[in-house]
Amino acid sequence: STFQELGLNEDLLHAITDLGFETPSDVQAKAIPILLEKDSDLVALAQTGTGKTAAFGFPMLQKIDISSRTTQGLILSPTRELCLQITNELKLYGKHCKGLNVTAIYGGASITDQARSVKRGAQIIVATPGRMKDMISRNMVDISKIEYAVLDEADEMLNMGFYDDITDILSHTPNDKSTWLFSATMPKEVARIARDFMHDPIEITV
Ligand code: AMP
Repeated sequence: STFQELGLNEDLLHAITDLGFETPSDVQAKAIPILLEKDSDLVALAQTGTGKTAAFGFPMLQKIDISSRTTQGLILSPTRELCLQITNELKLYGKHCKGLNVTAIYGGASITDQARSVKRGAQIIVATPGRMKDMISRNMVDISKIEYAVLDEADEMLNMGFYDDITDILSHTPNDKSTWLFSATMPKEVARIARDFMHDPIEITV
């Protein structure tokens, strides 16, 4: 398939051309049409390096309202490195989406700087669970109007002991959002998150 056939808009196709991406990867070809067409939950079994950032990033960038400054998308990832990597990729993918603000929230850096950046109006927040929970409890971030939540490398986050942080964070988001979970493996803790916090997810494997 081609990126055009997946239903992506011109701003995203323009960025894809700039980046030199020629064909959608397997996870992109499977996930993007589902995420664009339905407001469904998704469980994707996919390893790192398969292009999964774009698989959730392109649909999220297309579906959010960039003319609004409300935080609409939240991506949780296990480490600061991954958080920054996803943020950078989303900025590249959204480089022609005028007015887009993507903000990274992670531990080990100034929380006041991060709060200021959120306050400027980030449509998308990419966060590690510990710092995210901390900022929610200090009212530094409002995720009550989130429409899309991504749990990236869910198995890694749970291995690192983030179960309570993740469920606490999700409890501050609307029940009718869409949740997209990406994981390389499906241990019972990941299945438990899918069972308890997602609604009839569509499952794909790559
Ligand atoms: P990820 O698995 O999301 O970390 O992506 C791995 C790398 O592949 C990143 O550097 C992406 O920029 C790149 N990438 C993602 N999708 C494609 C594609 N369809 N064609 C070529 N490169 C891609």
